[in-house]
Amino acid sequence: MIHFVGAGPGAADLITVRGQRLLQEADVIIYAGSLVNPALLENAKEGCRIFNSAKMTLEEVIDVMKDAEDKGQDTVRLHTGDASLYGAIREQMDELDRLGISYDDSPGVSSFSGAAAALFAEYTLPNVSQSVVITRMAGRTPVPEKESIRSFAEHDCTMVIFLSTGLLEEVSAELMAGGYAPDAPAALVYKATWPEEKVVRCTVSTLAEAARENDITKTALILVGGFLDSEYERSKLYDPTFTTEFRQASSHSREPAEK
Ligand code: SAH
Repeated sequence: MIHFVGAGPGAADLITVRGQRLLQEADVIIYAGSLVNPALLENAKEGCRIFNSAKMTLEEVIDVMKDAEDKGQDTVRLHTGDASLYGAIREQMDELDRLGISYDDSPGVSSFSGAAAALFAEYTLPNVSQSVVITRMAGRTPVPEKESIRSFAEHDCTMVIFLSTGLLEEVSAELMAGGYAPDAPAALVYKATWPEEKVVRCTVSTLAEAARENDITKTALILVGGFLDSEYERSKLYDPTFTTEFRQASSHSREPAEK
């Protein structure tokens, strides 16, 4: 059996309870060495074979999984954050289907959640934005034209941009071409939840400069949108005058209770 496990964004105690148990039980661990916190490997039991997928091809990863399966062993495939985002899990699952090897998938805390926590931010503020666009600049992996940063920027919603720290001038230009004012709020979060985390608040036009000043060249998220500003409306959920499924509006609940 193969267990795909989200390792969380960095801090070793941000893996799920399930993910940690699977790590402790694994006979083989294949981890994404470029971003997974190596402290997580301390969960491995004695004799567990550990592979760093940063140095492996898809074929080599599958060979290790197949070999473990032939021996009746359990493998954990440990991906950074949550494996559903830029995790390249689909191609592994398709190969495993072809080989008739079964697998399951345990979600993880994505770095976009880690970055929000680092910023003490809420991505979905009432009257500011109720949508989060998760995207990236085109790099060696192309991005479909309809999904350009410029076109998403036109929606003026919350944006979380992955895998683009090396292209900040281009990101700024695209955001502004899509309608963001140069002084619209932006932020960079480097290694969210790691001890060396850096949180840098800047504007759409100063992203590259902010990164240079803070020595940020990779492993960062770019956050853009009004959620970084101070203006918003209170939520309806906790509004005393608003009745929800679980709570009467206070104008009703103030009536004296009959005994
Ligand atoms: N599946 C992962 C993303 C993998 S893609 C997730 O859910 O987070 C790798 C990119 O994710 C990096 O280039 C960077 O943009 C971002 N990233 C991963 N971990 C990060 C962290 N702790 N802090 C900031 N960005 C991070």
